[in-house]
Amino acid sequence: MSSKTLLPGTTLAGQPATLGVMGGGQLGRMFVHAAQAMGYHTAVLDPDPASPAGLVSHHHVQTDYLDGQGLAQMMQRCSAITTEFENVPAGAMLTLGAHRPVAPGADALQIAQDRIKEKAHFAACGVPCAPYAAITDTSQLAGVPDALLPGILKTARMGYDGKGQVRVADRTALAAAWASLKGVPCVLEKLLPLEAECSAIVARGWDGAMVHFPVQRNLHRDGILATTEVFAGNLPDGIAGQALDAARAIAEGLRYVGVLCVEFFVVQGAERLLVNEIAPRPHNSGHYTLDACDQSQFDLQVRTLAGLPLVQPRQHSPAIMLNLLGDLWQAGTPDWAGVLALPGVHLHLYGKLAARPGRKMGHLTVTGASTDAVRATAARAAAVLGLAAG
Ligand code: ADP
Ligand code: MG
Repeated sequence: MSSKTLLPGTTLAGQPATLGVMGGGQLGRMFVHAAQAMGYHTAVLDPDPASPAGLVSHHHVQTDYLDGQGLAQMMQRCSAITTEFENVPAGAMLTLGAHRPVAPGADALQIAQDRIKEKAHFAACGVPCAPYAAITDTSQLAGVPDALLPGILKTARMGYDGKGQVRVADRTALAAAWASLKGVPCVLEKLLPLEAECSAIVARGWDGAMVHFPVQRNLHRDGILATTEVFAGNLPDGIAGQALDAARAIAEGLRYVGVLCVEFFVVQGAERLLVNEIAPRPHNSGHYTLDACDQSQFDLQVRTLAGLPLVQPRQHSPAIMLNLLGDLWQAGTPDWAGVLALPGVHLHLYGKLAARPGRKMGHLTVTGASTDAVRATAARAAAVLGLAAG
């Protein structure tokens, strides 16, 4: 317990203990659910009147992230504030952080928001990443080593779900791609032959105590997470340990407070894991924790923010998580009755009204008594919904 501890169910200056979150997407919604289950009131800042988290929160401040009045309302309502969206302007978190405990802090967000700073932080922590070059002007473009091609050009800022990325085969394609990205600061990464991808989620408290979830194996399609598998043997031997050591070093190096997800590449034939990127918040690959662990990643976000004890979470069931993207709605409402008739299926929908292709509308997690049972049910659920298998 620390001076930052905010016990649930208490009253401060006549107001119920209230936790705030910047951003109103599905991650904010699941944070709000976890905070409310523990007895906190919640406030969400998001300009969208129909934001998934705003719809379920006690308070919804509907302004831009940098709006002075909106930030003042959040400070007036909340005892401590977190974020669910890494592109909340660092300036907003700095303003809030001057008056309230804010976790993660603006400095960690600034690093996670910029791939060039992020990779420099990985190097400072001694954690290797893919070979890359920063490209911020035309001389750097011309000086790119041949060894980085073919590669992936990624905007340094504001990319997500594969957006702001172009695969380039040679120098001509690289120059054209940088022009198509309007010459903004980028990194060029070598295109790696991936054997697998995985992610580690750690939670670190105000006092530096850290706990973690089991390491997830992730399958992406078109740059978007499609499936997460978490059970014994999901990754080659030794990988999970390396991922957790690296995630802890990265969190420690940031003096991070909150839930942090670190994504990794397992490269074919390579001995060491390479770090891809960090997300300074709960992560899509951790959604299975809601149904397969005794505490979810959102419970840990609440605990870290409110300065409550951190207890190592335990996975009590093998799990496979399938993302539900807007594409599934093309022929009308998906067959929920069909999937809910299967054993161990947990359906989560985020309350979004418009189902656009590629938009994350929900997910489902399959739990069961054994890995084989979970695999079989996940395959049946995918078949019912018309999702690509595997
Ligand atoms: P985002 O911020 O959109 O998640 P990422 O950098 O994580 O961007 O890239 C999205 C996906 O693209 C990765 O999960 C991986 O499947 C693929 N990818 C990204 N960089 C590389 C690379 N250097 N080599 C091979 N595949 C990559
Ligand atoms: Mg990613």
